[in-house]
Amino acid sequence: MRKSFWSLVIVTGLLLSLAGCGGAPAKKAEEKILRVGTEATFPPFEFQDEKSKEYTGFDMDLIRAVGKQMGYNVKIDNLGFDGLIPALEAGNIDVIASGMTITEERAKKVAFTKPYYDSGLTIVVGKDNNQIKDFPDLEGKRLAVQIGTTGAQEAARVKGAKVREFNSVGDTFLELKNGGVDAVVNDRPVNAYFLTTGGGIAYAKEVGKPRNAESYGFAVSKKNEKMAAEMDKALEALKKSGEYEKIYSKWFGKTVN
Ligand code: GLN
Repeated sequence: MRKSFWSLVIVTGLLLSLAGCGGAPAKKAEEKILRVGTEATFPPFEFQDEKSKEYTGFDMDLIRAVGKQMGYNVKIDNLGFDGLIPALEAGNIDVIASGMTITEERAKKVAFTKPYYDSGLTIVVGKDNNQIKDFPDLEGKRLAVQIGTTGAQEAARVKGAKVREFNSVGDTFLELKNGGVDAVVNDRPVNAYFLTTGGGIAYAKEVGKPRNAESYGFAVSKKNEKMAAEMDKALEALKKSGEYEKIYSKWFGKTVN
């Protein structure tokens, strides 16, 4: 009886020490995950790399850097633009990083970080369109916009315009190409990227003085405002270290301002 008791102790001890030798630390430091929501058809801010299928772009690089600075592992979810704020409110994501303009209306529902990019709206029309030169010329025209965006809000204010809403900006450009609409109202840097890198210049052009000084911010839940302040701190640190500048010039080919 005694003997078998002691042999049990020894065997158990041996087994335990063997398990301990397995290489992995006994307790793994808990991984902190930042669940980021984006609408990933908005180049150069967020889009899917054709080869790697990874989400890439200015916002994606920046939010990964911000997350890293804060000690998080960033996980990205691709959602519809009009589904981003509801997803945040439902607690399905922690942050929105999606070229989202800071507006008073949105700020009633979510907490924004400080602005991280300055934008505005412009118009894209067919290459041969000589009628539409600026925003007042949109009156009574057929317009395409992305659903839930500031471009959609601007178009809704145009007198007599027939506005059609699409899920992605890519779809609005396609409709313009097919002659279904006269103009697209959308964010300036995305229009510029579409015309140059996206090859839209073959059939389209950008017109109009940029309207609305719009600034992009990352958004978090109102219940989690502390996180917005933490993100501001991280952004500040990235600006100081030159990391923000590096990401900015990677995507816009120039320095800030
Ligand atoms: N900046 C615009 C907005 O916030 C468009 C954003 C987008 O389509 N991703 O409404």
